[in-house]
Amino acid sequence: MSILSDLHTHSTASDGQYTPAELVGLAKERGLNTLAVTDHDTVDGICEAVLAGKELGVRVLPGIELSALEYHTFHILGYGIDPENPTLAELCRRMKARRNERTGRLLAFLQEKGVALTAAEVEAAAGGEIIGRPHFAQAMVRRGCVATNREAFDRYLDTEEYYQRVERGKPPVKECIAAIRAAGGMASLAHPYQIGIGDDALEKLAAELAGHGLEAIECYYPKHTPEQEAFYLYLAEKYKLYITGGSDFHGEKVKPDVKLAALELDLGWMTKTAWSGGC
Ligand code: AMP
Ligand code: ZN
Ligand code: FE
Ligand code: FE
Repeated sequence: MSILSDLHTHSTASDGQYTPAELVGLAKERGLNTLAVTDHDTVDGICEAVLAGKELGVRVLPGIELSALEYHTFHILGYGIDPENPTLAELCRRMKARRNERTGRLLAFLQEKGVALTAAEVEAAAGGEIIGRPHFAQAMVRRGCVATNREAFDRYLDTEEYYQRVERGKPPVKECIAAIRAAGGMASLAHPYQIGIGDDALEKLAAELAGHGLEAIECYYPKHTPEQEAFYLYLAEKYKLYITGGSDFHGEKVKPDVKLAALELDLGWMTKTAWSGGC
């Protein structure tokens, strides 16, 4: 029997469309044996997913995706974390505070551009405690200011001006890796292509991060070209990093073109993490 997994998914605990339990249900339908729930900067969805996993016979790996400071899109995935670890909880608490502070500034920024969203509209799109840029995009679509989430990002939320003026404060990458390790987890460099640096710079970065406790690299990701995938596999081999992969599924309403993945991955590293199968 092959072991199929998706190690990169988002639930309503951050900016995904489906609740953690619904996500596990979709994984079951897809025939997955292992699902990692990796919400942005929060562990809040983990226990619901673990409990649903027990009911449905899907192994749920507690995960997280932390946004690091050094580049626009620089994400570190953590796997097998203890969701109750105080060091990680404190980092998440600070990240949530910085998101909330960004919400006010982003609303003002949009207002200046002629997009008069209210905090209530964005909160309604979020539904939960973590407010992410996709929720702003959804609120804009609902209001008819833009036709699609993509247009919202292209025009307002993923522009150089946004990053210069509005982007939230984020912890340095070393702190992200250290917090994942403090929680007994294994840290993986998410979707390396999104960092937006050349191969030589990425190799230097991977080597440096490996020296700071990074243990894996996300080689399999829907947007990676065959050449990129081959290069990341080469980096994994050279720097003794485990290979992870996943879809970055957020639900079709958030990312219309992304479906759950079903990857055959070696998950031998799982036994070295704080993951115990319980919650
Ligand atoms: P945040 O962490 O709130 O700043 O939002 C980051 C999330 O926004 C990412 O994980 C993606 O889900 C989404 N995102 C970022 N850039 C884009 C883009 N250009 N198009 C669509 N979604 C994006
Ligand atoms: Zn997201
Ligand atoms: Fe990401
Ligand atoms: Fe993600």
